[in-house]
Amino acid sequence: MEFYFLGTGAGMPSKQRNVSSIALLHPKMTWLFDCGEATQHQMLHSPIKPRKVSTIFITHLHGDHIFGLPGFISTRAALEGTTLLTIFGPKGIKEWLDATLRITGTYLRYPLDIIEVEAGQTYEQEGFQIHVEALEHRFLAYGYRIEGQEEKGALRVEALKQLGIPSGPLYRQIKQEETFRFEGIEYRSIDFLGEPKPGIKLAVLGDTVPCDGSIRLAQEVDVLVHEATFADSEQDHAGRFGHSTARQAAEIALKAQAKKLLLTHISARYVDQEQRLEVEAREVFEESYLMTDHQSVVIKG
Ligand SMILES: [Zn+2]
Ligand SMILES: [Zn+2]
Repeated sequence: MEFYFLGTGAGMPSKQRNVSSIALLHPKMTWLFDCGEATQHQMLHSPIKPRKVSTIFITHLHGDHIFGLPGFISTRAALEGTTLLTIFGPKGIKEWLDATLRITGTYLRYPLDIIEVEAGQTYEQEGFQIHVEALEHRFLAYGYRIEGQEEKGALRVEALKQLGIPSGPLYRQIKQEETFRFEGIEYRSIDFLGEPKPGIKLAVLGDTVPCDGSIRLAQEVDVLVHEATFADSEQDHAGRFGHSTARQAAEIALKAQAKKLLLTHISARYVDQEQRLEVEAREVFEESYLMTDHQSVVIKG
């Protein structure tokens, strides 16, 4: 599994950074978080195929996060996307997309399901739990927490061999079912499995000042994706405009006991001195990384 950063800039595109969009690539699916203008152009220089995208999560309806959606979804149809596309987003996303597609005469050859989310709700999507919390951005904005299912532990082959249980179909049954029978005796499968592996936990936040919703979403995640629009020197400015500094993002990661922090939504004003954001974040939280466009980060699980 990996995050692939399609756009890591704040507000408007620069030559170095396009506006917001992040892909989550999994062997079984491709998801997008936000879809700023020209996201489909960025995809042309990436391994991401529009028709493979099955779900899009929109954090909020500011233009730098959604103006790429109509273009992307119509191109997905032109490139023979025929499967369901599900879009999660704040109230208003359905009205905006329906009107845009209708007025521009855009016809999709695939079903489009638009789900308007609410804070505190949990949704099931393609085998993952998606939990939504409100953020604080002087505008309706959400963050998403993604949790994979716990995986069963490995077979304890030595214990099975001691009972004389041969490898083969029975081993498969032990992994899949709660009990199994061998030579007339019923056994509990769990007694022959190692420690279960916890499911992956990720949080992708939209634009926000530091807030309780961020900490709840990021609690003990493997990877937290957080905005870092500004450096320390602009902290007051960040707060006034509903944004965070890199250091504030790191403080959230630390409080939530996240394992890794990926910083995105970077203001173009730091083009020649971006590393200072990473330095400032690392003073608080060592595992902080400043993302660039077309950077990918492999995630376990
Ligand atoms: Zn933004
Ligand atoms: Zn915004």
